This record gives sequence, structure tokens and C-alpha cells, in this order.
Amino acid sequence: MKNNKKDIRALTKKQLQEFFVSQGDKSFRGSQVYEWLWNKSAHTFEEMTNISKETREMLKENFVINHIRVDQMQRSSDGTIKNAVKLHDSLTVESVLIPTPKRTTACVSSQVGCSLDCQFCATAKLKRMRNLNPDEIYDQVVAIDNESRLYFDKPLSNIVFMGMGEPLMNYNNVMKAVEKITSKEGLGMSPKRITISTSGVPKMIKKLADDEAKIKLAVSLHSAIDEVRTQIMPFNETFPLKDLKEALEYWYAKTQSRITYEYIVWKGINDNRAAAQALVDFCKAVPCKVNLIEYNPIDDGHFQQASAEATDMYQKMLEKNGITVTVRRSRGKDIDAACGQLANKSA
Ligand code: SAH
Repeated sequence: MKNNKKDIRALTKKQLQEFFVSQGDKSFRGSQVYEWLWNKSAHTFEEMTNISKETREMLKENFVINHIRVDQMQRSSDGTIKNAVKLHDSLTVESVLIPTPKRTTACVSSQVGCSLDCQFCATAKLKRMRNLNPDEIYDQVVAIDNESRLYFDKPLSNIVFMGMGEPLMNYNNVMKAVEKITSKEGLGMSPKRITISTSGVPKMIKKLADDEAKIKLAVSLHSAIDEVRTQIMPFNETFPLKDLKEALEYWYAKTQSRITYEYIVWKGINDNRAAAQALVDFCKAVPCKVNLIEYNPIDDGHFQQASAEATDMYQKMLEKNGITVTVRRSRGKDIDAACGQLANKSA
């Protein structure tokens, strides 16, 4: 019997209202329950104190409330927090809280594992096990918001989809989660504070532009030369740079929102002038900025961070061409919470 119960958080607000009407109740009751489920993150029907006991019993007979559970929380010496998050089917994903003096950022996962095959990323080694549901994405954000209030005395200010998975390969669920995060009945956060990071799926970038979600876009570029990019990110064979560039032009024409490129400089792979020049040329397509990110080693040393001189060379060439560039230091390395290190090691 138990297994037949539906996950109540899979229902939209409208569906929940319709359910109540079908039970001879008011649609308003659906709105009340919806608020409990999302804004107040109720874990049980008993908590819904403005709903009659009878109605709560009826809900319990028909539905379950699935919730993530923060299984293990690790704190880095730099303040970064990593949560190992248990899902209702016992799979685990990770999310990270990154504190800075001005903001706290939640880095959340969108899939268990990842279907892309970036050679330098620990998550890719897990393969894709399944997509996360909207509530599982939303709950990660709520957990980090609570930790931010508890440990840093302020609410969460930003969200980046840079945890495990490729958000644009789980588009519908990610967008449903964004809708909840930004809606009044959810967390009421501004979409401008949400960044979706993608390895670059052209068709989905266009869809994101069409859907006018008003969120920010980051692209993990790492090379602007097809042959090199295909070596380190094999799916580039299917989605070559030409298609990516065209999709980004489409994105900018529709949204007027500047794109961020994530870029790692590796020894012997892209630490040369030709590679930097190719990046400069790629950057001319649409207004953008470049984040040069530090490589976090995950394997036997095949990939190695390039020298400081190589990074400087990139920085100078980009700046000379009027492109904004920042060099981003990794956070939370000591607890495997840095970019590309999320592979459920703590679990
Ligand atoms: N799939 C999405 C989001 C997850 S990865 C994407 O590719 O954008 C988040 C960022 O970490 C990406 O820019 C990714 O390229 C980078 N990354 C992956 N492995 C890394 C590693 N070992 N060291 C540093 N950054 C890494």
C-alpha cells in the first residue's frame, strides 16, 4: 500500500488546488498546503497546523513527503561547507556552501553523477545514475540557506549550478526548481542571483534563452580550439564550438546577459599563446567575462595545473583585448569540495 502513495511535492500548485476541489474542499486549501511544502519546508503533515486534523489524515493516506537528508556535513579550514545529501532512494549527491565576506553561495547538484565525459572531472567518472527531481534540488538550497543563517548569520545570497551533473541535461527539473526558488511561495530569491553552469549544450542554451528565465549563464569552455576541446571534453565532437558560439549569440541577442566562461589552464594542453589567442577570438562573439579557475587534481596526474606564468599570459592577453578576467582560487580543497572534486568521497 505504502508504495502507491504519491510524492505530494511532484504536484504543481494548480494540481494541488484541483486535488482539494476534487475532495470537496476549497482550492485555497491547496495553496495553504503548497506553502507548507515549499516556503516552510514541512517534513510531515502534522506540522501543518492551520490544516484540520481530518485533512492531514486524508493527505497522509494519499501522499508522502520525500525529503533529502544531510547525511554528513564537513567544514573546510576556509569556512566552506560540504553536505553529503542522501536522497529518498539512498543515492547521494553533494552540495557546497561557499562563504565570502559579502555573500554566501550555494553550489548545488542537478544529477546523480553526470552523463558527460569531461576527462578532468571527478563527477564524470561516476556516470549518470539519475536526474534529480525539482524538490531534491530545492531542498539542497534550503539546507544551505539554513546553514548560512546558522554559521554566518545571514541568508544565502547566490546559487550556482556547479555541483554534480549537467543542469541542461536535466532541464525541466532544474527549471522547476528555479521556479520554486524564485517564487513567493518558495524562497523568493531573485533569478539574477542564480547561475546555471553548462559544459555547452547548444540546443538547450537556446531553449533557456527562449524561456526567459532571467538567470545567468556560465559556460565551461576550457579550450576554444575544437581538436583540443574534444580531447578533454569528448562530447565536443557532437557539440562543436561553432554550434556553441551560435547558441551563445542567440542567448545574448535574446537576453542581453553577459556570459561567463570558466577556463582552466593545464600544463601541456592549453598553456600556449595559440590557445590563449583562440580564447580571445572566441570571446569576441558576445559580451563576456572569463574566470580562470584553478585545477583541482582528481587523478593520477594526467592533468596538471599550468605554471603561474601561463595563467599570467592568459590574463594579460585577455585584458589587452578589453575582456574582463578574474583568477579564481579554489575553496574547500581540503574536504574535496572544490570544483570537479564532487564524487561522493565522504559517503
Ligand atoms: N556540468 C556543468 C556544471 C558542473 S562543473 C559544467 O560543466 O559547467 C562546475 C565547474 O567545475 C565547471 O566549470 C567544470 O569544468 C569545473 N571542473 C570540473 N572538474 C574540475 C577540476 N578537477 N578542477 C577544477 N575545475 C573543474
